[in-house]
Amino acid sequence: MIPVIRPVLGDEEAAAAAEAVRSGWVAQGPRVAEFERAFADHVGAGHGVATSSCTTALHLALLLVGVGAGDEVVVPSLSFIATANAVRYCGATPVFADVDAVTGNVTAKTVETVITARTRAVIAVDQAGVPCDLDEITALGVPVIEDAACAAGSTYRGRPVGAGAEIAAWSFHPRKLITTGEGGMLTTRSGDRARRARRLREHGMSVSAAERHASRTAIVEEYSETGFNYRMTDIQAAIGLVQLTRLDEIIARRRALAARYQELLPGYETARDPAYGETNYQSFWIVLPDDHPIGRDALLARLAEEGISARRGIMAAHLEPAYAGTTADLPVTERLTRRSLILPLFHEMTHAEQDRVVSVIAEAR
Ligand SMILES: *Cc1c(COP(=O)(O)O)cnc(C)c1O
Repeated sequence: MIPVIRPVLGDEEAAAAAEAVRSGWVAQGPRVAEFERAFADHVGAGHGVATSSCTTALHLALLLVGVGAGDEVVVPSLSFIATANAVRYCGATPVFADVDAVTGNVTAKTVETVITARTRAVIAVDQAGVPCDLDEITALGVPVIEDAACAAGSTYRGRPVGAGAEIAAWSFHPRKLITTGEGGMLTTRSGDRARRARRLREHGMSVSAAERHASRTAIVEEYSETGFNYRMTDIQAAIGLVQLTRLDEIIARRRALAARYQELLPGYETARDPAYGETNYQSFWIVLPDDHPIGRDALLARLAEEGISARRGIMAAHLEPAYAGTTADLPVTERLTRRSLILPLFHEMTHAEQDRVVSVIAEAR
């Protein structure tokens, strides 16, 4: 079986997790603090706040910019459903913007079309690792949260994705490039926002449990607002610290394999670098032409018969029952979600495996 992705995990991660267990400190503690610093440095962001997932990081990000009941937040429908769901967690309404046909990302133009007097924020996704054009979206004057779940190590205008973001949210789910099992991170330029995010992820506590434990004097904490338990554990952070050292090598390998797919599949629209940056190819998608002989779903079935695990292209939230009744005019989103598929791409993939995938696609008729 050829998987769609496989995490790169070795003895070093196992040893780091074991060390955290042996230390006796398994909840959020010194390793989480170290991972936050290391990750924020790697992506050029000021502050990192580790969370239980990217979904919870998005929820906190929306609260930080003041999103609440009755507000609207502009998001792409063409994204994993967590992007839209996080808006609903705040009692607000996601309003769907269409995407660019090449990058799969919202643009200043598609966002501007759906902005209203109630728009409180925009979530701009770096879809499948392809950086969005953050500067032109930010120039619209509405607070922008970057959903960089897939984009660790991608670049935007010569800097790492996230370096220019007021607030960005990241995922360490195994479907992404580096993993902590489950896990996420919020990064921000603002020290005040990072401090509030730290409180909100830990029940609204004024002093963290780790700080109280480390103190020689008795500290009584205070709860100034309703928070959440969105913490990462030190076991996860220990794994994340090792994973981070592998990121550059993982991206180099993915970019080489993606370039080979592009060579072997001439004539197909595929995921690729935009003019202003580089993707980490978290997912490699191809778009089938309108006159494809068998169509997307039959091709997915054919690949599965050959032991190849591909995926439908990126989902569109507005087509799911959870968002039934949403009115949205999203022609590019609907074409991409219906005509695209995601091909296997993983660190240890061999050229022979890649050739097998390509031959099933080439012979489909
Ligand atoms: C994976 C993903 C998420 C959710 O990440 P979790 O860590 O699983 O919560 C959110 N947004 C996008 C664009 C994603 O791809």
